[in-house]
Amino acid sequence: MTGVPGGAGPVVVVGGGVVGLCTAYYLAEAGLEVEVVERRALGSGASRGNAGWVCLSHSTPVPAPGVLRYALRSLGRPDSPLYLRPLPDPAFVRWLWRFWRSSTPAVFRRGYAAIAELNRDTFDLFDGLREAGVATTLTRPGMVHAFLSPAEARHHLGVQRQMADGRYPMPTDVVTGDEAHLLDGALSSRVRAAYLVEGEGVVDPEAFAHGLGEALAAAGVKVHENAEVTGFRAAGGRVAAVRTGPGEIPCSAVVIAAGMRSAGLLGALGHPLPLQAGKGYSFSVNLDPAPRHTLYFGERRAVASPIGGTTRIGGTMELSGNNNRLDWRRIVAVALASRHYLGRWFDDPDDLVGLIRDPWVGGRPFLPDGLPVIDRVPGHDNAFAATGHGMLGITLGPVTGHQLTRYVRTGRRPEALAPFRFDRLAR
Ligand SMILES: Cc1cc2nc3c(=O)[nH]c(=O)nc-3n(C[C@H](O)[C@H](O)[C@H](O)COP(=O)(O)OP(=O)(O)OC[C@H]3O[C@@H](n4cnc5c(N)ncnc54)[C@H](O)[C@@H]3O)c2cc1C
Repeated sequence: MTGVPGGAGPVVVVGGGVVGLCTAYYLAEAGLEVEVVERRALGSGASRGNAGWVCLSHSTPVPAPGVLRYALRSLGRPDSPLYLRPLPDPAFVRWLWRFWRSSTPAVFRRGYAAIAELNRDTFDLFDGLREAGVATTLTRPGMVHAFLSPAEARHHLGVQRQMADGRYPMPTDVVTGDEAHLLDGALSSRVRAAYLVEGEGVVDPEAFAHGLGEALAAAGVKVHENAEVTGFRAAGGRVAAVRTGPGEIPCSAVVIAAGMRSAGLLGALGHPLPLQAGKGYSFSVNLDPAPRHTLYFGERRAVASPIGGTTRIGGTMELSGNNNRLDWRRIVAVALASRHYLGRWFDDPDDLVGLIRDPWVGGRPFLPDGLPVIDRVPGHDNAFAATGHGMLGITLGPVTGHQLTRYVRTGRRPEALAPFRFDRLAR
């Protein structure tokens, strides 16, 4: 079976987030005619205000052992890093059930290994993009994992070393006591244990998306913004055209990379995906001194990144339905969590309104086992999906696009994509 066997028209990529844009980039690089259709502006979805990490050491599936117990403890506590608001929706309950079933140590280890394998080429691909003139904005300052408790830091490093399994370098021990906060000038002396994972990277995700958009335009890729895909014209197991408000776009193949909204589009092809939004929050603030590294605040599961000359602080995983409602209490919770590690950068939560810029909420597209789907849509020769990247869409954008392009071109699934098949979700 081939992927794009001589059909007329371009390969249409639905969704101009980092995953769709990277896919469009590699498809165009392979010499295919490509069009991108984006319902708003490029990079305006989950790809906009995130923490920008491009990293190996934190690329774990979310359903880790114990995570649901942790989530259940958060019930009714909107200041918890992982916040679950139960919904009277059978699809949500089914999703939670499958999420819980995926949080066994064996499934978690398998998922982690699959992501680590996929991630092997990540930094090489980012280098390739830069060499080809794409403004990736990637820098590799390294990531400091900061903890208030040495025992917690040692536990965390132990788990991370075990997971890395020699695939990439990890420190052998944590720095403790008065030395710990010296790993990054922005850390407060309350940080009593920390370790640096060298080489971990960060991008300005919005600028990266725009850089990809410019590269696509330069390569002659037609980009339709403010154009929503509403469905498909399909017959005989092939998609012949993509339907948008203004009309149809005939296509030789389609790639659905529409983040959270991929579920509905795939439903139109008879294969809805159980996607839930893992809502996260971020904002920017000028700190003095500002962090030089990306920072992970261990006990509170919040993060800080040097992005665009300022500090972006983010965090929380909120399972409260597929919406983009910004809950200010969650912004305050992230800010308060960061104060344990960064010091008292504000006195009163009321001060935040004047101190922070660009408060943002984004829905990470999550499948119940925490892994993306990067596969052909069952029953359709020329329809593909790339979504469900959860916390890792920026890190995994280039490898997703690169591997999926091989699949679309040859019709043969690359081995690295086997764990990200559609049919695993049918079990
Ligand atoms: C607080 C927070 C921090 C994060 N930090 C990181 C991090 O440090 N590193 C990392 O790797 N990941 C991080 N993530 C996750 C990352 O943001 C996502 O995994 C990633 O952005 C998903 O990209 P995407 O292209 O799949 O989706 P999106 O960026 O949401 O793109 C999908 C696009 O499709 C468009 N679309 C939807 N429906 C249609 C339609 N019908 N027709 C046309 N277009 C449509 C949307 O408008 C959107 O632009 C974070 C997320 C959050 C919330």
